[in-house]
Amino acid sequence: MPSAPAPELQPEALRSSLHGRGQRLTPQRQRVLALFERIGEGTHLSAEEVHQRLLRAEERVSLATVYRTLRLLSSMDLLRELELPEGGRRFELAAGDHHRDHHHLVCVRCGLTEEFESQAVLQAGQQAAEHHGFRLLECVLNVRALCRSCAAAEAT
Ligand SMILES: [Zn+2]
Ligand SMILES: [Zn+2]
Repeated sequence: MPSAPAPELQPEALRSSLHGRGQRLTPQRQRVLALFERIGEGTHLSAEEVHQRLLRAEERVSLATVYRTLRLLSSMDLLRELELPEGGRRFELAAGDHHRDHHHLVCVRCGLTEEFESQAVLQAGQQAAEHHGFRLLECVLNVRALCRSCAAAEAT
């Protein structure tokens, strides 16, 4: 039996955020957020990549607007901004209710980002926080690295 096509849903994160805070998002902001919800958790996009995807979907939007929108969605905790060691920025869906601490392997050349989870890192953060009397909120490790293809390109 063919499954019904997915309707254009209001993203889950958006619904709960609007619900919780009574804030409103313009259709354009909703579309940016919907883009992240479609690709799912664990994907990290730069503003340029978001811009390109929107253009492919025939959205007329400037890169500057995309930047502003990403900033705003981050400030609303709908997206999480990931600062890369080389000054770049990527954005990912904030995990919301099913929040999990995860870490990032970041290629310093092309910005490719892979996630990993580590109990050991979490424990280290917890212990350090306890030791200094801090309450742990988030424990994230960003690892600078070279991805396979960039490492190969450097070797030649
Ligand atoms: Zn991530
Ligand atoms: Zn790379």
